[in-house]
Amino acid sequence: MEVLKMANSRVSLLRHSFNSFVPPSATSTFSLSILPTRRFIVSASISSKESLVDSISSSAIPSTDSANPNTRWKPMCLYYTQEKCTMMQDSTHLQKFNHSFSLKHALNAAGYKNKHSEHLDFFLVLDLEGKVEILEFPVLMIDARTMDVVAFFHRFVRPSEMSEERVNQYIEGKYGKLGVDRVWHDTAIPFKEVIVQFEEWMAKHSLFNEELSGPLNRAAFVTCGNWDIKTKIPQQCQVSKMKLPLYFMEWINLKDIYLNFYKRRAAGMRTMMNELKIPMLGSHHLGIDDTKNIARVLQHMLTDGAVLKITARRDPRSPESVEFLFENRIK
Ligand SMILES: [Zn+2]
Repeated sequence: MEVLKMANSRVSLLRHSFNSFVPPSATSTFSLSILPTRRFIVSASISSKESLVDSISSSAIPSTDSANPNTRWKPMCLYYTQEKCTMMQDSTHLQKFNHSFSLKHALNAAGYKNKHSEHLDFFLVLDLEGKVEILEFPVLMIDARTMDVVAFFHRFVRPSEMSEERVNQYIEGKYGKLGVDRVWHDTAIPFKEVIVQFEEWMAKHSLFNEELSGPLNRAAFVTCGNWDIKTKIPQQCQVSKMKLPLYFMEWINLKDIYLNFYKRRAAGMRTMMNELKIPMLGSHHLGIDDTKNIARVLQHMLTDGAVLKITARRDPRSPESVEFLFENRIK
């Protein structure tokens, strides 16, 4: 674990050196070469079938993959994820930062034909960040048939009921240590606006009808735990003085599916990843990285034959009461 932590902290450093200090429009070359980053993260893009130990030991040696920049793990460009990267022509930038959401799963998907989730065409993996108010809203859209990421939506969220001073402290404490506080300040928008943009995004992908403003069409949210949709979204809606959207009436808690499928409890994402021998990539508690890691757990479980079903539902007439559909669940 020590080595993995080190790799993660280097990743943070790498991010820090760009996302935190260099604006996306800067044309100067970065000082990344002084950081001994590459070799340590070279083979982080390992398949889920490789063991954690293998991935760590091989990361000390230049991987054969290093010749191909597309197969090397790199931190996401957080300006890009929010549609604000202005450096897409800069080859140095493209080499350093990932601009693709593809999750290379080396699992054998050939036999997997979405036979288990017939009524769902897409999974929307969501993993919010922010304890007081929501600070980050990342969603990955996964095709239930191919298990590939087909689209993504990511916004940093600016709290609406906090003083600027408090927001600054909050962001420093939360994102400062991950080295992404600068990009947060550059891009965060209020939750209300995030929801407007999210609905436009869902409509564009035929997941949602803006006029009907109803539940999701052929898709379901997938979260790690119930907190995101059960607790945090309604809280934030209250703070932001808006109605709870109808598409937040039901969701799939991956931990409940995990418990009922593998017959063992997983307290969190880290446990699931350890048990399934999926190495954690990126920075834990950076929402966009967590979302990708959860999506990789989801891919793994689907390939193993797990059945994804709605695990929790609330009544639109009394949204505070939530019905849990699995008897056996993580409380
Ligand atoms: Zn970029």
